[in-house]
Amino acid sequence: VGAPTMAGTRQVKLDKECELRVEVGADTPLRLRLVTGTAEIFGTELPPEIWLTFPPRLKFAVFTWYGATIEMDGSTETDYTADETPTVSYVNVHAILEGRRNRAKASSTSDPDSSQGPRVIVVGPTDSGKSTLTRMLLSWAAKQGWKPTFVDLDSGQGSITIPGCVAATPIELPIDPVEGIPLDMPLVYFLGHTIPSANTELYKVLVKELSRTIERHFAGNAEARAAGMVINTMGWIEGVGYELLLHAIDTFNANVVLVLGQEKLYSILKDVLKNKPNVDVVKLQKSGGVVSRNAKVRQKDRNYRIREYFYGLTNDLSPHSNIASFSDLFFYRIGGGPQAPRSALPIGAEPVADPTRLVPVNINRDLLHLVLAVSFAKEPDQIISSNIAGFICITDIDIPRKKITYLAPTVGELPSRFLIVGSLTWLET
Ligand code: ATP
Repeated sequence: VGAPTMAGTRQVKLDKECELRVEVGADTPLRLRLVTGTAEIFGTELPPEIWLTFPPRLKFAVFTWYGATIEMDGSTETDYTADETPTVSYVNVHAILEGRRNRAKASSTSDPDSSQGPRVIVVGPTDSGKSTLTRMLLSWAAKQGWKPTFVDLDSGQGSITIPGCVAATPIELPIDPVEGIPLDMPLVYFLGHTIPSANTELYKVLVKELSRTIERHFAGNAEARAAGMVINTMGWIEGVGYELLLHAIDTFNANVVLVLGQEKLYSILKDVLKNKPNVDVVKLQKSGGVVSRNAKVRQKDRNYRIREYFYGLTNDLSPHSNIASFSDLFFYRIGGGPQAPRSALPIGAEPVADPTRLVPVNINRDLLHLVLAVSFAKEPDQIISSNIAGFICITDIDIPRKKITYLAPTVGELPSRFLIVGSLTWLET
């Protein structure tokens, strides 16, 4: 359908309940504005008349409930109009969640159950539009004045912070169609790997820690509790991936499971969860607008995401290159590390590395280009259960001088000297 378009200003007229699907070109940004009517991008209304600039490679849809005229300036990879979208079914889900939030708000705050708003989890295969649906539900709720909690368990292509993490943040305003989630103060736990199978046990521990922290917050904050949460998950739904989904549903006490784009997963979950009468499993159609991404594109997206952390979406941040002495910083890896010698084990037993054990890491050139998390822990034994303050990237290691150069978002001392090492790397290009 879509074809590359030439630069220049042009207008597109959208009928009611239609959307304009756009893939911004690889190199140049696209300017777009709403000329007449009303329209939204993934749940966030467009301001009238004002030109918005979308960065290269962004993929999005401008949807209108009642009709709109959109103007674009610049070339795109593709853009086309679609008159079949699942948005009505998505907004119907939103309406049901809204009812539950209102009931939770009206109930007595002393009753933890009835004052609890919906806990929604969005599941489905890769490229089924999970992140997009999550975003719509959050933005629609925020528009109505709620502050729902966004939980992102997708360590591969998360939307809250860089890859390799599980994270949560309250959504106080509809999500900006260009900027995405504000990166200010999310609650982040660092897995250090983009695929959870690199350390499944650690992933589970971190999901548990994240849920505990949110649970504590909900216990003391009736407003957050009534607004509830929307959880985005990863697209890995087979084998261990499926087990991790069940683990997430259980850990967060999800009571609404939205299954996107796969009949099989829907029927399996429906069956597995039938003993839990307060959990609703709902099947939703995948949007035809979702753009599939292959492994290479995903890898690229991850790199852009890390770049954005340091430099900002439009190069508006100035990260700082800092130098520290070897003795100033402490590096730890979680899991693996030295194993019990075979001689110390019963005959026939294989040495197993404890996946959640904290292992000090010696400073050497293997650390080069690794992206490390700065822990909030005060003591090493708190590292696993602590959330993180931010990230640094090692750019040079001078062994003779015992100096480390690293890129950090700011100048000056790090919030802590404990750094977590994973397999996440970034090469500035
Ligand atoms: P994964 O699990 O693999 O991370 P996902 O299921 O979360 O993927 P999304 O990230 O929601 O999928 O969607 C994939 C891409 O398609 C995104 O770039 C998103 O912006 C784009 N997209 C989703 N819906 C539409 C649409 N209706 N029109 C245009 N682009 C869309």
